[in-house]
Amino acid sequence: MTRQLVEVEGIVFKRKKFKEADILAKILTDQYGIITLEIKGALKAKSRLGGATLNFSYGNYVINTNFRGISTLRTFKQVKQFDEIYLDLLKNSYASYLLDLVDHAFLEYQSIGEYYPLIMTALKKINDGFDVEIITQLVQLKMLKAFGVEPQMRKCIICGKEKGVFDYSIELGGIICNDHFNENISRMHLQSKTVSLLRTLMLINIDQISNINISKQLKLDSKKVIDRVYASYLELNLKTKKFLDELVLL
Ligand SMILES: [Zn+2]
Repeated sequence: MTRQLVEVEGIVFKRKKFKEADILAKILTDQYGIITLEIKGALKAKSRLGGATLNFSYGNYVINTNFRGISTLRTFKQVKQFDEIYLDLLKNSYASYLLDLVDHAFLEYQSIGEYYPLIMTALKKINDGFDVEIITQLVQLKMLKAFGVEPQMRKCIICGKEKGVFDYSIELGGIICNDHFNENISRMHLQSKTVSLLRTLMLINIDQISNINISKQLKLDSKKVIDRVYASYLELNLKTKKFLDELVLL
């Protein structure tokens, strides 16, 4: 494909030095998914392109691309930054992990569809002060589908019941209702409120989530389940996740 100029909407999330004063940045775009961009002269003082491509900058970027490999940034329009995420170490670490997750679920220049608005809304909410742990858990749960391992959280995976008391089974890949608790089925023995929270986060649209107060203990319980689900179904071992877990422990 010949190189052409296109305008994309996206968010910058990884930068590294490249050649003399250039950088390579990853940008998550609405139109073409993840793109690696070369930003010439970005490290020079007063570089306009450099200033518009700090981590967690978002807006419209005009790029020269042949839809594979490294594209080049030409100019930009209406770029803003998620300041709170940029400046706050904890928010920064959560956001970096979420973008890292997307980076591992998709190939470059592969359209990411519904996950673009999901990630942008999540970042907006984190930047605006929503409960960062809850927003992160919601995205983690929804991202499982992108990795091809979508758990059944809507109805009992055995009988299809949608209301009642539920547990989760890693082996079966979904919730099971209490009609089967005495059967010989491998399950996690979770409290029903933990399963309720997980179901809500999995099934709710992120736009509908409000800043409800969820206890620290409940958030910790659901986090443990999500971490076990990820460890059982996928082999990711992301540095950003390890860093985040260590930071949250402090
Ligand atoms: Zn059932």
